[in-house]
Amino acid sequence: MANKIPRVPVREQDPVVRATNFEEVCYGYNLEEAQLEASRCLDCKNPRCVAACPVGLQIPRFIAALREGELSRAAAIIAEDSSLPSICGRVCPQESQCEGACVLGIKGEAVAIGKIERFVGDWKLEHAAELEHTTAPAKGRKVAIVGSGPAGLACASDLAKWGYEVTVFEALHRLGGVLVYGIPEFRLPKERIVAREIAEVERLGVKFEKDVIVGRTVTIDSLLDEEGFDAVFIGSGAGLPRFMGIEGENLNGVVSANEFLTRANLMHAYDSNYDTPIYVGKHVVVVGGGNVAMDAVRTAKRLGAEATIVYRRSEQELPARVEEVHHAKEEGINFRMLTNPVAVLGNEQGWVTAVRCVEMELGEPDESGRRSPIVKPGSEFELPCDVVIMALGTSPNPLIASTTKGLETNRRGCLTATEEGATTREGVFAGGDAVTGAATVILAMGAGRKAAKAIDAYLSEK
Ligand SMILES: Cc1cc2nc3c(=O)[nH]c(=O)nc-3n(C[C@H](O)[C@H](O)[C@H](O)COP(=O)(O)OP(=O)(O)OC[C@H]3O[C@@H](n4cnc5c(N)ncnc54)[C@H](O)[C@@H]3O)c2cc1C
Ligand code: SF4
Repeated sequence: MANKIPRVPVREQDPVVRATNFEEVCYGYNLEEAQLEASRCLDCKNPRCVAACPVGLQIPRFIAALREGELSRAAAIIAEDSSLPSICGRVCPQESQCEGACVLGIKGEAVAIGKIERFVGDWKLEHAAELEHTTAPAKGRKVAIVGSGPAGLACASDLAKWGYEVTVFEALHRLGGVLVYGIPEFRLPKERIVAREIAEVERLGVKFEKDVIVGRTVTIDSLLDEEGFDAVFIGSGAGLPRFMGIEGENLNGVVSANEFLTRANLMHAYDSNYDTPIYVGKHVVVVGGGNVAMDAVRTAKRLGAEATIVYRRSEQELPARVEEVHHAKEEGINFRMLTNPVAVLGNEQGWVTAVRCVEMELGEPDESGRRSPIVKPGSEFELPCDVVIMALGTSPNPLIASTTKGLETNRRGCLTATEEGATTREGVFAGGDAVTGAATVILAMGAGRKAAKAIDAYLSEK
């Protein structure tokens, strides 16, 4: 299947300029571009794109509404399945989901579903004040949500719409979870997009309490037994970084990507009006190949360092979004594929001076289906650097599980929960990275919405 109209290119900041600033890389479509791109969709009878979307977004329906100029209808169709379209349009791995399955991609280029979704989501945020917000009459039941990331926000909005009194407890002083402390400004603008999405949740009547660490300031037990909450949803994410366990990892200058990005994002390193305590030195090495690694390396570059990705598999296996890898290359990031650190080296003052690496080659596929990397004998070499950022994945923080009666976890430290979000403790539900381990925004949002349904069913029966 081909299409006569080529995929409409999206306008972006010039790579040389943007590698020195934190403004958004991609400008997105305007109405004319979005409608032209929408006209490429074939409105398939059995749309493969919908089947490939983790939340079953009605893609051809919202695309048709946009094409016909009915923007509020397009936004309403998206809202049936997604509460964060401006965010998902920017950060979902479309190439392995909807766009990866689009029939036009077989012989040509898939419809730019993510960019169209982003356009409709941004339009909705701009017109939020004019759009109707209907909430059901108050039910007189209280639900506590732990964490203000995509899982917590999605769960909170649905419950508030259905008439529940919802309070979100957030450990940090900023709301949004990874959307604010992890993903950088140049990919997801905080004030223009994330804060406005959260303002929409607030408009539904959801209360937010910041600087409350559940498990320290309050506990799940005290929320249920003393503070009158009828149910709790845990969307506390997976914020505990992993390290390699190699020699020299305790040297000054070795940090987790989480710490590095949290400093950059929450302490305003992206804003020249702030003097953020963040050290990048002259050369930063980032270990890993996911979105977190790409965000860390591109942030380090913008802060003035020569920046290199070290990844033990080949480019084909990089788990990061294709667009981020493409942007990173355009911005001058060095990629050392099939390379693995075996030790971090330092000077007498205890500061990093280099990473000792080995070259790898790919062997047989492992249980994940990816070919496993094997060390090439005699391939050791040193890569000089002043900072090493470990972006090797994260696990859930054990605090909540260890302070709540009857809450079970699996061997990876993730909360045990059913597909609908019910945990092993009655009245306590969970979803997002806290249950799956580090995953994606759309999966966390979908889990939050499923749990909202389960909480509604539980409280309606009770
Ligand atoms: C740097 C980075 C880049 C990423 N890029 C992408 C991407 O491009 N595309 C994509 O789809 N996904 C991406 N992800 C993954 C995605 O952001 C997560 O899967 C998603 O945010 C998980 O949502 P969540 O609501 O489960 O948790 P989170 O977003 O982690 O939110 C959890 C919230 O709970 C709070 N919390 C934790 N413990 C407590 C407690 N005890 N008490 C109160 N509050 C608590 C945390 O402070 C946080 O605000 C990225 C992740 C990172 C770190
Ligand atoms: S598969 Fe592609 S062409 Fe078909 S409905 Fe989905 S977006 Fe449109």
